[in-house]
Amino acid sequence: MKKRYLVTAALPYANGPLHIGHLAGAYLPADIYVRYLRLMGRDVVFVCGSDEHGAAITVKARKEGTTPQAIVDQYHTVLKDTFEKIGIGFDIYHRTSAPIHHQTSQDFFRKLLDKGAFLEETTEQYFDEIAGQFLADRYIVGTCPVCANPEAYGDQCEKCGSALSPTDLINPKSMLSGSVPVKRPTKHWFLRLDQHEAWLREWINTGVADGKKLHNPADWKNHVLGQCNSWLDQGLQPRAMTRDLDWGVDVPQEIPGSEGKKLYVWLDAPIGYISATKQWALDNGKDWEPYWKSDDTALVHFIGKDNIVFHCLIFPAILKAHGDFILPCNVPANQFLNLEGRKLSTSKNWAVWVHEYCADFPGQEDVLRYNMIKKMPEQSDSEFTWKGFQETNNNELVNNLANFVNRVLVLSHKYYAGIVPAIDHDQDFKSGWETDKTGSYDQELSLLYGKLREMGTEIERFNFREALRVVMEISSAGNALLQFNEPWKTVKDEPEMVKVVLNLALQYVAVLSVAIRPFLPFSADRLRKMLNLGLLRDKGDLLAILNELVEGNPIMLPNHALGQSEHLFSRISDEVIEAQIAKLGASEPASAPAAEPTEIQYAPMKETIQFDDFAKMDIRTGKILTAEKMEKSKKLLKLSVDLGFETRTILSGIAEHFSPEEVVGKQVVVLANLAPRPMMGVESQGMILMAENEQGALSFVSPADGWPSGFGVR
Ligand SMILES: [Zn+2]
Repeated sequence: MKKRYLVTAALPYANGPLHIGHLAGAYLPADIYVRYLRLMGRDVVFVCGSDEHGAAITVKARKEGTTPQAIVDQYHTVLKDTFEKIGIGFDIYHRTSAPIHHQTSQDFFRKLLDKGAFLEETTEQYFDEIAGQFLADRYIVGTCPVCANPEAYGDQCEKCGSALSPTDLINPKSMLSGSVPVKRPTKHWFLRLDQHEAWLREWINTGVADGKKLHNPADWKNHVLGQCNSWLDQGLQPRAMTRDLDWGVDVPQEIPGSEGKKLYVWLDAPIGYISATKQWALDNGKDWEPYWKSDDTALVHFIGKDNIVFHCLIFPAILKAHGDFILPCNVPANQFLNLEGRKLSTSKNWAVWVHEYCADFPGQEDVLRYNMIKKMPEQSDSEFTWKGFQETNNNELVNNLANFVNRVLVLSHKYYAGIVPAIDHDQDFKSGWETDKTGSYDQELSLLYGKLREMGTEIERFNFREALRVVMEISSAGNALLQFNEPWKTVKDEPEMVKVVLNLALQYVAVLSVAIRPFLPFSADRLRKMLNLGLLRDKGDLLAILNELVEGNPIMLPNHALGQSEHLFSRISDEVIEAQIAKLGASEPASAPAAEPTEIQYAPMKETIQFDDFAKMDIRTGKILTAEKMEKSKKLLKLSVDLGFETRTILSGIAEHFSPEEVVGKQVVVLANLAPRPMMGVESQGMILMAENEQGALSFVSPADGWPSGFGVR
């Protein structure tokens, strides 16, 4: 076990509010993990903050006709407020526009420069001649060379997750003016990622760096390792760490050539975790350095899968190149959450916005948290639906958890005036864990201990869905305990038995009040009040309970006075759900949303031929002189084609795609030595070559304009 933990959650861009995909991807898992560690009495610092640099911010400012500063001020406040409302318990929510961050990032840059981590190079970069500026990252869009997504950004394709450079894009277009950019030379500092490839490969796959075992790869998620290795297998290239921008952290002024250059946002953003820790330490009179520099610290990054490369390869390379910092011991990235059968989309308003949820469902923040955990995309993409949300609330939170708590408290008030009854430990009753089994008070306490341990193990393995399932088993067993013993029927004839059952059920509720804390923090507080147990301090409360249970001691002692009972959760009606479904995509443009691109089916390759086979074909350039429809044929056009040295008659099956007028004058490519074939009474003397796509549309294969006819194609 490590001595201390530094937990980070991905810095959200301060250019928009938070949606449920963000919540399920990075923030909720991090929050559960941290709350658990605190309950176990561990030393943990949880940092996050707004990422206020990068082209995503300036593009937004330009679009809204305002300044980048106004954008980040607005959304930093929105994000901070939303995290608080939904109960994400950061120790600090910082921002990268803070002076301490600029200074920390610049010091990093200087150190990397001194250590020779950069290659200074002048390269050709895209420049928008209309807007008069270079087009970095999100200022440029084009087709992804990996997955053919036509809306890939200059730094990343959000569809396939590939990290890109603007020069990788096919058909690039400026986001500023819409024009096709030109290339101009500019000097930048490139991180020598190629020099880091070997150690990164070893560290990712064996956990060993500099001869020290730092983590066990078996503890890392498969899809995280897979994405890292697929990158490493492609070979790491030097990557520019500076940009020609007017918004961001300046390249330190004393460095020659720094004018007009800013740090790449993916250099400065992860350093934001460090500057946030520094600020937290200043605010709390602590020392930040052990959290980042000591081998007995566990550094854990919670992110979505689109950030894997930056957190598992690029940031570790930066930390290693600097030399003073530890490496992350795990990066438990989640996959993506979909919504009602479609990908979440900010631009199409196909999202559930967390601040809107909090406004629409006041006091029910934990219902969203519960649903997000149930649907957490831990190993593969998952899906949120409003119907599922309603069912989960009504069946699990209301019928199972709230119902159990309510029954126990109501019965305790009714039979014992809200005082925990003293009991005879040898009294028989039926266990809630197994049908028709006689229970024992001590054994039930040890079962509860086992369940809490199991929950903890799952959380430490980042299996939050499973951990929550274990917690809900405690509630189910509690309900069964009441059901099997029916205190409402037996209280008159077997009062001693009922005392044991209710005392025990109260111990279950007390255990639940701590066990649900990482998942449902607001409900935990309310439950503590109902039990009159005092709010959790998140400093070892779970550890304290485990220590009692393992000794066979109950959590609530006889004669403890309970508080007033209230409903923990209430049913959500169809109308409420329908209103939410109606909101989806409400501000979407009236036109139908573009169909999601489907997987392209390519024809299988034909068998290999020899060059001699190809050389037998006489392929020549030509030009269509005349064209007419063939009578009685829907498909054929009768063409006369100039081959320079002679004119051919060729029948071509393109009549359904082109009119005769359209094709006259077209320059074409002809298979000229194809044996003549009679068709519908006319002899066709060759074949025009056409390209055909998936949908069967045709395109002429044409030489350049004005190309002479009759010459060979090879
Ligand atoms: Zn792609």
